[in-house]
Amino acid sequence: MSSTYKNKVKSQGVDDMVLLGKLNNDEIVTNLKKRYLSDIIYTYISDVLISVNPFKLIPNSCGPEQIELYKGRYRYEVPPHVFALAENAYRKMVNEGDNQCVIISGESGAGKTEASKLIMQYIAAVSGKSDGVEKVKRIILESNPLLEAFGNAKTIRNNNSSRFGKYFEIQFDAGGDPKGGKITNYLLEKSRVVSQSKNERNFHIFYQLLVGATQREKDEFGLTRPEDYAYLNKGGCYTVDGIDDVAEFKDTKRAMDVMGITQQEQKNIFQLLAGILWLGNIQFVELHKDTGIKNMQALEFAASLLGVKPDRLKKVLTYKTLNAGGNIVDALQNPDQASHIRDALSKTIYDRLFDWLVAKINLSMKTTGECRVISVLDIYGFEIFDKNGFEQFCINYVNEKLQQIFIELTLKSEQEEYDTEGIKWEPIKYFNNKIVCDLIEEIKPPGIMAVLDDTCKKVHAMDGGKTDETFVGNLNAISHPHLHIRNNGFTIKHYAGDVVYASQGFTERNKDTLFADLVQCMQSSTDAFTRNFFPDDTSVKKAPTSAGYKIKKSSQELVEALKKCSPHYVRCIKPNESKKPLDFIDSRVKHQVEYLGLLENIKVRRAGFAYRHTYDKVLERFKILSKKTWPHYSGDARSGCVAILEDPAVNIEKSQWQCGRTKLFIRLPETYYQLEELRERKY
Ligand code: ADP
Ligand code: MG
Repeated sequence: MSSTYKNKVKSQGVDDMVLLGKLNNDEIVTNLKKRYLSDIIYTYISDVLISVNPFKLIPNSCGPEQIELYKGRYRYEVPPHVFALAENAYRKMVNEGDNQCVIISGESGAGKTEASKLIMQYIAAVSGKSDGVEKVKRIILESNPLLEAFGNAKTIRNNNSSRFGKYFEIQFDAGGDPKGGKITNYLLEKSRVVSQSKNERNFHIFYQLLVGATQREKDEFGLTRPEDYAYLNKGGCYTVDGIDDVAEFKDTKRAMDVMGITQQEQKNIFQLLAGILWLGNIQFVELHKDTGIKNMQALEFAASLLGVKPDRLKKVLTYKTLNAGGNIVDALQNPDQASHIRDALSKTIYDRLFDWLVAKINLSMKTTGECRVISVLDIYGFEIFDKNGFEQFCINYVNEKLQQIFIELTLKSEQEEYDTEGIKWEPIKYFNNKIVCDLIEEIKPPGIMAVLDDTCKKVHAMDGGKTDETFVGNLNAISHPHLHIRNNGFTIKHYAGDVVYASQGFTERNKDTLFADLVQCMQSSTDAFTRNFFPDDTSVKKAPTSAGYKIKKSSQELVEALKKCSPHYVRCIKPNESKKPLDFIDSRVKHQVEYLGLLENIKVRRAGFAYRHTYDKVLERFKILSKKTWPHYSGDARSGCVAILEDPAVNIEKSQWQCGRTKLFIRLPETYYQLEELRERKY
């Protein structure tokens, strides 16, 4: 006996994988693949949305008609979609008054940022339309192209890869109209400003500026071709398929206008960017007892764009002022060291410019008074490269933290639901990665970050090269099943795989400080905009905080914020490395399915019970199956559900379902199909 429902499942898989017949990782992959090849990229595991990157525009999937389709509908009434998730979050916020958060995870290029933009578009489309509201919406939506210009870059994995993490809170009034917003940004990959791997680019804005600037700007800022700049020509990649830098520069400028960034400020920004490019072109040579500048023109141009005197710039790049036991000495830097100082300056300027932009956007959508919040977290995914440094360490740490909340909020709370609903269940084993989080962030006994901070403090005066070795040596004090110390580095067994970290550069990046004389030089700038990025905070004399400490603190704050919201999850999967449509590599998907813990997710979800829903929802959907509840029913929802299931016409065995306190639980997927099929026949 075949039915439309079963046939559909055969060709297009199940919408919700808690209803999978057989349960293992291969079945999950097969289900996702069937759907993917039918252009269905979304699948649920209960409330969790799985999204597989299609690498193409799927016709009629994200337009205004789709938004209309999802508006005001329950999740089970419509096919799986990120709009359904957004609708659910939005309605929950409006109806129940709770803050909501959407946590989007997945590796680079899996589709996180696109998903986050669809969510924001959906919310903008379904909420109010008054003038004030429209203005806020415009700012919220236009913040994307602006931040992408400065924070995204072409990488090998993704042509528009976000190189920063973003937590976007949209604030609503009690009626559900957006009235403001706030962005928190995390850890911009500032090393990209000074170097890129082969076939990768620097941040988009540099290329946009070079092709989009007016002739006057080009003359004034010394802008030529990307090939002419050391900071742009190392990756050997200047243009990107599908990216029109000229058009995007217009978008960036328009977005700046929307944020209230004045023409003068825009000019200042472009000047600063040009200053960075020219800094990068300064080359050093070893002279007899001195370090010289190979190309004075670059130095002079950089100095003039930054508003500082060329002599002074040269001095702070080639000498370091040290305080050796009360004696101030100027220590000559060799060309290598000088290049290092130059790059540190460029990275700092860019990083602070990025923070300034975020602050500017926040100012333009700042609001006061009580509000409800939907927040969207789009943060860089887990990274494993051939060579992994301090940046990957931080990024992967943040991902461990996110996996930890996923476990806390989904797996743990699932099992707790059975308890609160008074349902008998089989506990499911899953890997709890708290042990890895502890390994990295614990203070007592000291974890990796604590050891790193300690090493940085103690070997202050030591030569840069050796501190990284000392750091690895000190790590030996930690004995942990997820840590393996090696030559020049260490391996962490992360939840998503083993990552080998090269310790080189760890201590220096963790310290993340500019030399005082460099800061003073920048404070002497005649250009107020530039000067602003180097506030005179030497008077406060706080102990400098390390980069590791900052990322730890901000991810802890993030976790706190997320825990105060009702969570919604989008787990993005990248089906291939080719970035091409309809290319579904089973082994790649399987790996992600495994480390995302989808199988455990489903298992916990159905530990004995594949399907559960509140009584009113079950009644609403299946009331037409029984004469006792259709066409008229006036009893309570629970009794209605029981009446349906006990109806001989429906024919469901008593052992197949249980009543919880607020929800009905159904044991096998087949039983649920049976109900669905009966329902189809009635229509
Ligand atoms: P991530 O943020 O996870 O690194 P992105 O969201 O930037 O990945 O997606 C990478 C690329 O994949 C996008 O630039 C786009 O070309 C494509 N893509 C992602 N999601 C979708 C989607 N839902 N529909 C069509 N293309 C998509
Ligand atoms: Mg992204």
